[in-house]
Amino acid sequence: MNLHCDLHSHSTVSDGTLTPVEMVLRAYEKGVEVFALTDHDATEGLKEAAQTADKVGLQFVPGIEISVTWSHQTIHIVGLGINPDDEALNQGLKVLREFRGRRGEEIALKLEKKGLENPLVGAKKFANGEILSRTHFARYLVEQGRAKDIRQVFKRFLVKGKPGYVAGKWASLEDALSWIQGAGGIAVIAHPARYKISATRLRQLITEFKELGGLGFEAISGSHSPDEEIRMAQLANQFDLFISKGSDFHSPENIYRELGAMQDVPAGSIPLWHSDAWKEKIGLQKSSDLS
Ligand code: AMP
Ligand code: MN
Ligand code: MN
Ligand code: MN
Repeated sequence: MNLHCDLHSHSTVSDGTLTPVEMVLRAYEKGVEVFALTDHDATEGLKEAAQTADKVGLQFVPGIEISVTWSHQTIHIVGLGINPDDEALNQGLKVLREFRGRRGEEIALKLEKKGLENPLVGAKKFANGEILSRTHFARYLVEQGRAKDIRQVFKRFLVKGKPGYVAGKWASLEDALSWIQGAGGIAVIAHPARYKISATRLRQLITEFKELGGLGFEAISGSHSPDEEIRMAQLANQFDLFISKGSDFHSPENIYRELGAMQDVPAGSIPLWHSDAWKEKIGLQKSSDLS
């Protein structure tokens, strides 16, 4: 029933601080058996991660975390079991990365008004490639002594209503699901308790997600409290969604949750890896895990 898996994590390809290879090795060391790398809006790390996983004997699930704007709100949709080379998916993600670049310039202008020097250069120093994330700005602001940690930077500068905030213009929910499904993957609503939306709107989101063929709900998340996990598992059950679990690990320096260190899927809920879709699209190396 309880697979030792971690189906949500980030590397240097997006806003994590370990390389894809280091992520797989860490997952292996922590005893994770099935591991997904799900970088924001980029598939670049998936091949080298898969190769490393093969070497050490870890089952690797190629993943993605797509930024979505739904009803004026940023929502994250995880895709699991995607083909990293899928053209429509990569074309869609490219547009999101271009938006990240433009948004970065706007964020930088706003931070300059708050007296920061060269915030764009500073943030890019922490970024590894095409993905420019608010996390990279946050690391720069910590380095500049503007706040004691990343969480404080978000609170003071980077969230709605704060001086460095720029609204997201991400993919539609429809596009995100069609890219994931077109690339052979399973769509999952990431960390559902994190969104600042009412219970009614969360139900609306789930309804639309299901209409578009979405199957998974990340009730077990490194960013959820135990209470939130129970509430989200109940919600998943009401909507017949399968439960996914992921640490959302970004960095050993800022551990909210270690890789794989999550509670089991509660009894009475159905894990995503018990779904027919998982068996068809992802499968498991160890048949014992399916019992
Ligand atoms: P972006 O996609 O560039 O807008 O950045 C979103 C990322 O910022 C998330 O994936 C998290 O890694 C990080 N993040 C968002 N809110 C917070 C927060 N309150 N504290 C720390 N990190 C955060
Ligand atoms: Mn992130
Ligand atoms: Mn997320
Ligand atoms: Mn994430």
